Amino acid sequence: MNIHEHQAKALLKEYGVPVAGGVAIFSADEAEAAANSLPGPLYVVKSQIHAGGRGKGKFKELSADAKGGVRLAKSVADVVANAREMLGNTLVTKQTGPAGKQVNRLYIEDGADIARELYLSILVDRTVGRVAFVVSTEGGMDIEAVAEHSPEKIVTLAIDPDTGVTAADIDKLAAALKLEGDAKADSQQLFPALYKAFCDKDMSLLEVNPLIVMADGHLRVLDAKVSFDNNALFRHPDVVALRDTSEEDAKEIEASKFDLAYVALDGNIGCMVNGAGLAMATMDIIKLYGEEPANFLDVGGGASKEKVTAAFKIITADPNVKGILVNIFGGIMRCDIIAEGVVAAVKEVGLKVPLVVRLEGTNVKEGKAILRDSGLNVIPADDLDDAAQKIVKAIKGQ
Ligand code: GDP
Ligand code: MG
Repeated sequence: MNIHEHQAKALLKEYGVPVAGGVAIFSADEAEAAANSLPGPLYVVKSQIHAGGRGKGKFKELSADAKGGVRLAKSVADVVANAREMLGNTLVTKQTGPAGKQVNRLYIEDGADIARELYLSILVDRTVGRVAFVVSTEGGMDIEAVAEHSPEKIVTLAIDPDTGVTAADIDKLAAALKLEGDAKADSQQLFPALYKAFCDKDMSLLEVNPLIVMADGHLRVLDAKVSFDNNALFRHPDVVALRDTSEEDAKEIEASKFDLAYVALDGNIGCMVNGAGLAMATMDIIKLYGEEPANFLDVGGGASKEKVTAAFKIITADPNVKGILVNIFGGIMRCDIIAEGVVAAVKEVGLKVPLVVRLEGTNVKEGKAILRDSGLNVIPADDLDDAAQKIVKAIKGQ
Protein backbone atom coordinates (compact mmCIF):
# COMPACT_ATOMS: atom_id res chain seq x y z
CA MET A 1 0.00 0.00 0.00
CA ASN A 2 1.19 3.51 -0.86
CA ILE A 3 0.40 6.82 0.80
CA HIS A 4 0.64 10.44 -0.28
CA GLU A 5 3.72 12.57 0.27
CA HIS A 6 2.03 14.80 2.85
CA GLN A 7 0.90 11.75 4.84
CA ALA A 8 4.40 10.28 4.71
CA LYS A 9 5.87 13.55 5.97
CA ALA A 10 3.37 13.77 8.84
CA LEU A 11 4.27 10.22 9.83
CA LEU A 12 8.02 10.88 9.65
CA LYS A 13 7.60 14.06 11.66
CA GLU A 14 6.35 11.93 14.57
CA TYR A 15 9.80 10.32 14.56
CA GLY A 16 11.54 13.67 14.72
CA VAL A 17 12.45 13.78 11.04
CA PRO A 18 12.92 17.36 9.76
CA VAL A 19 10.20 18.27 7.25
CA ALA A 20 8.77 21.62 6.18
CA GLY A 21 5.47 22.90 7.50
CA GLY A 22 2.59 22.37 5.11
CA VAL A 23 -1.14 21.99 4.61
CA ALA A 24 -2.98 19.53 2.36
CA ILE A 25 -5.94 20.99 0.48
CA PHE A 26 -8.70 19.48 -1.63
CA SER A 27 -10.11 22.61 -3.26
CA ALA A 28 -8.64 25.87 -4.53
CA ASP A 29 -10.80 27.77 -2.01
CA GLU A 30 -8.58 26.40 0.76
CA ALA A 31 -5.35 27.60 -0.89
CA GLU A 32 -5.28 31.12 0.50
CA ALA A 33 -5.77 30.09 4.14
CA ALA A 34 -3.22 27.31 3.71
CA ALA A 35 -0.58 29.70 2.34
CA ASN A 36 -1.37 32.31 4.99
CA SER A 37 -0.66 29.76 7.72
CA LEU A 38 2.91 29.37 6.42
CA PRO A 39 5.73 31.86 6.97
CA GLY A 40 6.56 32.53 3.28
CA PRO A 41 7.91 34.23 1.22
CA LEU A 42 8.61 31.03 -0.74
CA TYR A 43 5.91 28.35 -1.07
CA VAL A 44 5.71 25.07 -2.93
CA VAL A 45 2.49 23.78 -4.48
CA LYS A 46 2.77 20.01 -4.79
CA SER A 47 0.41 17.64 -6.59
CA GLN A 48 -0.45 14.69 -4.37
CA ILE A 49 -0.67 11.58 -6.51
CA HIS A 50 0.75 8.12 -5.93
CA ALA A 51 3.50 8.56 -8.51
CA GLY A 52 6.86 10.26 -8.70
CA GLY A 53 8.40 12.51 -11.31
CA ARG A 54 5.75 15.15 -10.60
CA GLY A 55 8.10 18.10 -10.98
CA LYS A 56 8.90 17.16 -14.57
CA GLY A 57 5.33 15.99 -15.26
CA LYS A 58 2.88 17.70 -17.60
CA PHE A 59 -0.81 18.44 -17.17
CA LYS A 60 -2.88 16.99 -19.98
CA GLU A 61 -5.38 19.83 -20.00
CA LEU A 62 -2.77 22.63 -19.96
CA SER A 63 -0.51 23.89 -22.74
CA ALA A 64 2.83 22.11 -23.23
CA ASP A 65 4.81 25.02 -21.80
CA ALA A 66 2.73 25.19 -18.59
CA LYS A 67 4.62 24.37 -15.40
CA GLY A 68 4.70 20.84 -13.96
CA GLY A 69 3.16 19.15 -10.93
CA VAL A 70 5.50 20.70 -8.32
CA ARG A 71 5.62 24.50 -8.47
CA LEU A 72 7.40 27.20 -6.55
CA ALA A 73 5.25 30.21 -5.65
CA LYS A 74 6.52 33.56 -4.42
CA SER A 75 3.34 34.97 -2.88
CA VAL A 76 0.00 33.85 -1.46
CA ALA A 77 -1.73 35.04 -4.64
CA ASP A 78 0.72 32.95 -6.67
CA VAL A 79 -0.13 29.87 -4.56
CA VAL A 80 -3.84 30.43 -5.18
CA ALA A 81 -3.35 30.90 -8.95
CA ASN A 82 -1.30 27.72 -9.22
CA ALA A 83 -3.76 25.74 -7.09
CA ARG A 84 -6.60 26.81 -9.39
CA GLU A 85 -4.63 25.75 -12.44
CA MET A 86 -3.57 22.37 -11.05
CA LEU A 87 -6.48 20.92 -9.08
CA GLY A 88 -8.77 18.60 -11.01
CA ASN A 89 -6.39 18.28 -13.93
CA THR A 90 -4.54 15.17 -15.05
CA LEU A 91 -0.84 14.95 -14.39
CA VAL A 92 1.24 12.70 -16.65
CA THR A 93 4.66 11.71 -15.31
CA LYS A 94 7.23 9.05 -16.13
CA GLN A 95 5.58 6.87 -13.50
CA THR A 96 1.87 7.39 -14.20
CA GLY A 97 1.81 5.96 -17.72
CA PRO A 98 0.23 7.91 -20.59
CA ALA A 99 -3.21 8.00 -18.95
CA GLY A 100 -1.86 10.15 -16.08
CA LYS A 101 -3.48 10.70 -12.71
CA GLN A 102 -6.05 13.25 -11.69
CA VAL A 103 -4.78 15.67 -9.07
CA ASN A 104 -7.42 15.78 -6.34
CA ARG A 105 -5.30 17.20 -3.56
CA LEU A 106 -2.37 19.55 -3.24
CA TYR A 107 0.19 19.99 -0.53
CA ILE A 108 1.04 23.63 0.12
CA GLU A 109 4.44 23.66 1.72
CA ASP A 110 6.89 26.12 3.16
CA GLY A 111 9.59 26.54 0.50
CA ALA A 112 13.21 25.67 1.23
CA ASP A 113 16.38 27.37 0.06
CA ILE A 114 18.29 24.43 -1.39
CA ALA A 115 22.09 24.13 -1.36
CA ARG A 116 22.39 20.44 -2.31
CA GLU A 117 19.97 17.69 -3.35
CA LEU A 118 20.82 14.18 -2.16
CA TYR A 119 19.21 10.76 -2.52
CA LEU A 120 18.33 8.44 0.36
CA SER A 121 16.12 5.39 0.51
CA ILE A 122 15.56 2.50 2.87
CA LEU A 123 14.40 -0.84 1.53
CA VAL A 124 14.50 -4.56 2.20
CA ASP A 125 17.63 -5.90 0.55
CA ARG A 126 16.70 -9.50 -0.16
CA THR A 127 20.19 -10.52 -1.25
CA VAL A 128 21.43 -10.01 2.32
CA GLY A 129 18.13 -10.43 4.12
CA ARG A 130 18.41 -7.06 5.81
CA VAL A 131 17.01 -3.58 5.76
CA ALA A 132 19.43 -1.40 3.83
CA PHE A 133 20.08 2.26 3.18
CA VAL A 134 20.76 3.34 -0.39
CA VAL A 135 22.30 6.80 -0.66
CA SER A 136 23.77 9.00 -3.35
CA THR A 137 25.04 12.54 -3.70
CA GLU A 138 23.09 12.68 -6.97
CA GLY A 139 19.66 13.52 -5.57
CA GLY A 140 16.61 15.21 -7.02
CA MET A 141 16.92 13.39 -10.29
CA ASP A 142 16.03 10.05 -11.71
CA ILE A 143 17.90 7.55 -9.51
CA GLU A 144 17.47 4.84 -12.16
CA ALA A 145 19.49 7.00 -14.55
CA VAL A 146 22.22 7.44 -11.92
CA ALA A 147 22.24 3.67 -11.38
CA GLU A 148 22.68 3.14 -15.11
CA HIS A 149 25.25 5.81 -15.93
CA SER A 150 27.24 6.24 -12.72
CA PRO A 151 26.55 3.28 -10.41
CA GLU A 152 29.67 4.13 -8.38
CA LYS A 153 27.77 7.15 -7.07
CA ILE A 154 25.25 4.92 -5.29
CA VAL A 155 26.21 3.46 -1.92
CA THR A 156 24.28 0.64 -0.25
CA LEU A 157 24.62 -0.11 3.46
CA ALA A 158 22.81 -3.03 5.11
CA ILE A 159 21.86 -2.61 8.77
CA ASP A 160 22.33 -5.36 11.35
CA PRO A 161 18.89 -5.90 12.92
CA ASP A 162 20.50 -6.71 16.28
CA THR A 163 22.24 -3.36 16.62
CA GLY A 164 20.11 -1.07 14.46
CA VAL A 165 21.89 1.95 12.96
CA THR A 166 25.28 2.19 14.70
CA ALA A 167 27.59 5.18 15.03
CA ALA A 168 29.82 3.55 12.41
CA ASP A 169 26.82 3.22 10.04
CA ILE A 170 26.00 6.89 10.54
CA ASP A 171 29.59 7.85 9.73
CA LYS A 172 29.58 5.75 6.57
CA LEU A 173 26.30 7.22 5.34
CA ALA A 174 27.34 10.79 6.17
CA ALA A 175 30.64 10.26 4.36
CA ALA A 176 28.89 8.78 1.31
CA LEU A 177 26.66 11.87 1.19
CA LYS A 178 29.62 14.19 1.85
CA LEU A 179 27.84 15.77 4.81
CA GLU A 180 29.63 18.35 6.92
CA GLY A 181 28.95 20.70 9.81
CA ASP A 182 25.30 21.08 10.82
CA ALA A 183 24.15 18.64 8.14
CA LYS A 184 26.44 15.98 9.52
CA ALA A 185 25.23 16.70 13.04
CA ASP A 186 21.58 16.47 11.88
CA SER A 187 22.27 13.15 10.21
CA GLN A 188 23.14 11.51 13.56
CA GLN A 189 19.52 11.80 14.55
CA LEU A 190 18.00 11.55 11.06
CA PHE A 191 19.34 8.16 9.92
CA PRO A 192 18.24 6.23 13.04
CA ALA A 193 14.87 8.03 13.02
CA LEU A 194 14.18 7.01 9.42
CA TYR A 195 15.28 3.45 10.17
CA LYS A 196 13.00 3.29 13.21
CA ALA A 197 10.02 4.60 11.23
CA PHE A 198 10.71 2.04 8.51
CA CYS A 199 10.82 -0.91 10.94
CA ASP A 200 8.04 0.24 13.30
CA LYS A 201 5.57 0.73 10.47
CA ASP A 202 6.57 -2.31 8.39
CA MET A 203 7.45 -0.23 5.37
CA SER A 204 8.71 -1.91 2.24
CA LEU A 205 10.14 1.31 0.82
CA LEU A 206 10.98 4.72 2.21
CA GLU A 207 12.41 6.94 -0.50
CA VAL A 208 13.57 10.49 0.13
CA ASN A 209 14.46 12.11 -3.17
CA PRO A 210 15.68 14.65 -2.56
CA LEU A 211 17.05 14.86 0.94
CA ILE A 212 18.38 18.41 0.95
CA VAL A 213 21.09 20.40 2.60
CA MET A 214 19.57 23.84 2.99
CA ALA A 215 21.36 27.13 2.54
CA ASP A 216 21.55 27.37 6.36
CA GLY A 217 23.45 24.07 6.40
CA HIS A 218 20.72 21.88 7.91
CA LEU A 219 19.10 18.75 6.49
CA ARG A 220 15.47 18.46 5.42
CA VAL A 221 13.36 15.72 3.88
CA LEU A 222 11.98 17.46 0.78
CA ASP A 223 10.11 14.57 -0.83
CA ALA A 224 8.94 11.30 0.68
CA LYS A 225 7.57 8.20 -0.95
CA VAL A 226 6.46 5.42 1.38
CA SER A 227 5.13 1.94 0.59
CA PHE A 228 3.99 -0.52 3.24
CA ASP A 229 4.14 -4.30 3.33
CA ASN A 230 0.51 -5.33 2.73
CA ASN A 231 1.00 -8.52 4.74
CA ALA A 232 1.70 -6.46 7.86
CA LEU A 233 -1.13 -3.94 7.47
CA PHE A 234 -3.29 -5.85 9.94
CA ARG A 235 -1.13 -4.52 12.75
CA HIS A 236 -1.22 -0.90 11.59
CA PRO A 237 -4.81 0.42 11.57
CA ASP A 238 -3.36 3.96 11.64
CA VAL A 239 -1.64 3.26 8.32
CA VAL A 240 -4.69 1.59 6.77
CA ALA A 241 -6.65 4.75 7.61
CA LEU A 242 -4.37 6.65 5.21
CA ARG A 243 -5.34 4.52 2.23
CA ASP A 244 -6.64 6.56 -0.73
CA THR A 245 -8.54 4.12 -2.92
CA SER A 246 -9.08 6.82 -5.56
CA GLU A 247 -5.38 6.35 -6.37
CA GLU A 248 -5.79 2.62 -6.88
CA ASP A 249 -7.10 0.60 -9.79
CA ALA A 250 -10.83 -0.12 -9.28
CA LYS A 251 -10.36 -3.70 -10.50
CA GLU A 252 -7.53 -4.26 -8.03
CA ILE A 253 -9.67 -2.93 -5.17
CA GLU A 254 -12.46 -5.34 -6.14
CA ALA A 255 -9.94 -8.18 -6.37
CA SER A 256 -8.52 -7.37 -2.94
CA LYS A 257 -12.03 -7.80 -1.44
CA PHE A 258 -11.89 -11.43 -2.58
CA ASP A 259 -8.27 -11.87 -1.57
CA LEU A 260 -7.25 -12.44 -5.20
CA ALA A 261 -3.69 -11.81 -6.33
CA TYR A 262 -4.57 -9.50 -9.24
CA VAL A 263 -2.57 -6.82 -11.02
CA ALA A 264 -4.11 -4.81 -13.86
CA LEU A 265 -1.94 -4.45 -16.99
CA ASP A 266 -2.24 -2.69 -20.34
CA GLY A 267 -2.81 -5.60 -22.77
CA ASN A 268 -5.99 -7.18 -24.10
CA ILE A 269 -5.91 -10.86 -23.14
CA GLY A 270 -7.49 -11.47 -19.74
CA CYS A 271 -5.84 -14.31 -17.84
CA MET A 272 -7.24 -16.54 -15.12
CA VAL A 273 -4.55 -18.83 -13.81
CA ASN A 274 -3.71 -20.68 -10.61
CA GLY A 275 -0.26 -20.30 -9.13
CA ALA A 276 1.99 -17.28 -9.52
CA GLY A 277 4.56 -19.21 -11.56
CA LEU A 278 2.00 -20.52 -14.02
CA ALA A 279 0.48 -17.03 -14.23
CA MET A 280 3.90 -15.58 -15.14
CA ALA A 281 4.49 -18.34 -17.70
CA THR A 282 1.06 -17.69 -19.21
CA MET A 283 1.80 -13.99 -19.55
CA ASP A 284 5.17 -14.77 -21.13
CA ILE A 285 3.71 -17.12 -23.71
CA ILE A 286 0.99 -14.63 -24.64
CA LYS A 287 3.77 -12.14 -25.35
CA LEU A 288 5.71 -14.78 -27.26
CA TYR A 289 2.78 -15.11 -29.65
CA GLY A 290 2.62 -11.36 -30.16
CA GLU A 291 -0.09 -10.18 -27.77
CA GLU A 292 -0.11 -8.56 -24.32
CA PRO A 293 -1.80 -9.78 -21.11
CA ALA A 294 -4.51 -7.54 -19.62
CA ASN A 295 -3.74 -8.69 -16.11
CA PHE A 296 -1.85 -10.95 -13.81
CA LEU A 297 -4.26 -13.12 -11.84
CA ASP A 298 -3.49 -15.98 -9.51
CA VAL A 299 -6.76 -17.39 -8.13
CA GLY A 300 -4.64 -19.41 -5.71
CA GLY A 301 -5.02 -22.95 -4.52
CA GLY A 302 -8.31 -24.15 -3.06
CA ALA A 303 -10.31 -21.10 -4.21
CA SER A 304 -14.09 -21.30 -3.82
CA LYS A 305 -16.56 -21.08 -6.66
CA GLU A 306 -17.48 -17.57 -5.42
CA LYS A 307 -13.88 -16.45 -5.63
CA VAL A 308 -13.49 -17.82 -9.15
CA THR A 309 -16.77 -16.14 -10.16
CA ALA A 310 -15.54 -12.82 -8.78
CA ALA A 311 -12.23 -13.20 -10.61
CA PHE A 312 -13.91 -13.94 -13.92
CA LYS A 313 -16.25 -10.97 -13.49
CA ILE A 314 -13.32 -8.63 -12.82
CA ILE A 315 -11.66 -9.83 -16.04
CA THR A 316 -14.79 -9.46 -18.20
CA ALA A 317 -15.54 -6.00 -16.78
CA ASP A 318 -12.27 -4.67 -18.22
CA PRO A 319 -13.15 -2.97 -21.55
CA ASN A 320 -9.63 -3.64 -22.86
CA VAL A 321 -10.13 -7.40 -22.65
CA LYS A 322 -10.68 -8.78 -26.15
CA GLY A 323 -10.25 -12.42 -25.21
CA ILE A 324 -9.86 -14.58 -22.10
CA LEU A 325 -7.46 -17.38 -21.41
CA VAL A 326 -8.21 -19.68 -18.50
CA ASN A 327 -5.17 -21.79 -17.72
CA ILE A 328 -5.53 -24.10 -14.75
CA PHE A 329 -3.26 -26.83 -13.57
CA GLY A 330 -5.37 -28.38 -10.84
CA GLY A 331 -3.32 -29.59 -7.91
CA ILE A 332 -5.01 -28.28 -4.81
CA MET A 333 -7.33 -26.22 -7.01
CA ARG A 334 -9.98 -28.45 -8.58
CA CYS A 335 -10.84 -28.04 -12.26
CA ASP A 336 -14.58 -28.53 -11.61
CA ILE A 337 -14.63 -25.57 -9.19
CA ILE A 338 -12.99 -23.41 -11.85
CA ALA A 339 -15.54 -24.54 -14.44
CA GLU A 340 -18.44 -23.85 -12.06
CA GLY A 341 -17.08 -20.38 -11.29
CA VAL A 342 -16.68 -19.53 -14.97
CA VAL A 343 -20.20 -20.73 -15.80
CA ALA A 344 -21.73 -18.85 -12.85
CA ALA A 345 -19.96 -15.62 -13.83
CA VAL A 346 -21.01 -15.89 -17.48
CA LYS A 347 -24.63 -16.47 -16.40
CA GLU A 348 -24.52 -13.20 -14.47
CA VAL A 349 -22.59 -10.94 -16.81
CA GLY A 350 -22.55 -12.69 -20.19
CA LEU A 351 -19.57 -13.34 -22.39
CA LYS A 352 -18.83 -11.07 -25.33
CA VAL A 353 -15.28 -12.15 -26.12
CA PRO A 354 -13.64 -15.45 -27.12
CA LEU A 355 -12.77 -17.78 -24.24
CA VAL A 356 -10.01 -20.37 -24.41
CA VAL A 357 -9.83 -22.86 -21.55
CA ARG A 358 -7.00 -25.20 -20.77
CA LEU A 359 -7.69 -27.48 -17.81
CA GLU A 360 -5.37 -30.13 -16.46
CA GLY A 361 -5.12 -32.05 -13.19
CA THR A 362 -7.56 -32.79 -10.39
CA ASN A 363 -11.15 -33.40 -11.55
CA VAL A 364 -10.31 -32.36 -15.10
CA LYS A 365 -12.98 -34.64 -16.58
CA GLU A 366 -15.68 -33.16 -14.37
CA GLY A 367 -14.49 -29.65 -15.18
CA LYS A 368 -14.58 -30.22 -18.92
CA ALA A 369 -18.03 -31.80 -18.64
CA ILE A 370 -19.40 -28.78 -16.76
CA LEU A 371 -18.14 -26.43 -19.48
CA ARG A 372 -19.43 -28.67 -22.27
CA ASP A 373 -22.89 -29.05 -20.71
CA SER A 374 -23.19 -25.32 -20.03
CA GLY A 375 -23.55 -24.55 -23.73
CA LEU A 376 -20.86 -21.91 -23.39
CA ASN A 377 -18.85 -21.15 -26.49
CA VAL A 378 -15.54 -22.37 -25.09
CA ILE A 379 -12.49 -23.01 -27.24
CA PRO A 380 -10.78 -25.98 -25.56
CA ALA A 381 -6.99 -26.23 -25.53
CA ASP A 382 -4.66 -29.13 -24.79
CA ASP A 383 -1.61 -27.44 -23.34
CA LEU A 384 -0.20 -24.01 -22.59
CA ASP A 385 1.31 -23.52 -26.03
CA ASP A 386 -1.87 -24.56 -27.81
CA ALA A 387 -3.95 -22.34 -25.51
CA ALA A 388 -1.84 -19.24 -26.12
CA GLN A 389 -1.89 -19.71 -29.88
CA LYS A 390 -5.65 -20.22 -29.88
CA ILE A 391 -6.49 -17.11 -27.85
CA VAL A 392 -4.15 -14.93 -29.92
CA LYS A 393 -5.77 -16.26 -33.10
CA ALA A 394 -9.26 -15.79 -31.68
CA ILE A 395 -8.81 -12.12 -30.79
CA LYS A 396 -7.43 -11.47 -34.26
CA GLY A 397 -10.66 -12.98 -35.61
CA GLN A 398 -8.84 -15.78 -37.42
P1 GDP B 1 8.92 14.75 -7.69
O1 GDP B 1 9.23 15.48 -8.95
O2 GDP B 1 7.61 14.04 -7.76
O3 GDP B 1 10.03 13.85 -7.26
O4 GDP B 1 8.72 15.87 -6.54
P2 GDP B 1 9.78 16.53 -5.51
O5 GDP B 1 9.08 16.75 -4.23
O6 GDP B 1 11.04 15.73 -5.44
O7 GDP B 1 10.07 17.94 -6.17
C1 GDP B 1 10.71 18.07 -7.42
C2 GDP B 1 11.74 19.16 -7.38
O8 GDP B 1 11.15 20.40 -7.06
C3 GDP B 1 12.82 18.96 -6.32
O9 GDP B 1 13.84 18.10 -6.74
C4 GDP B 1 13.30 20.39 -6.14
O10 GDP B 1 14.28 20.71 -7.13
C5 GDP B 1 12.05 21.23 -6.39
N1 GDP B 1 11.50 21.64 -5.08
C6 GDP B 1 10.61 20.99 -4.32
N2 GDP B 1 10.40 21.63 -3.15
C7 GDP B 1 11.21 22.72 -3.18
C8 GDP B 1 11.48 23.79 -2.25
O11 GDP B 1 10.95 23.86 -1.13
N3 GDP B 1 12.36 24.75 -2.64
C9 GDP B 1 13.00 24.69 -3.85
N4 GDP B 1 13.86 25.66 -4.16
N5 GDP B 1 12.77 23.70 -4.75
C10 GDP B 1 11.90 22.75 -4.41
MG1 MG C 1 11.20 13.61 -5.71
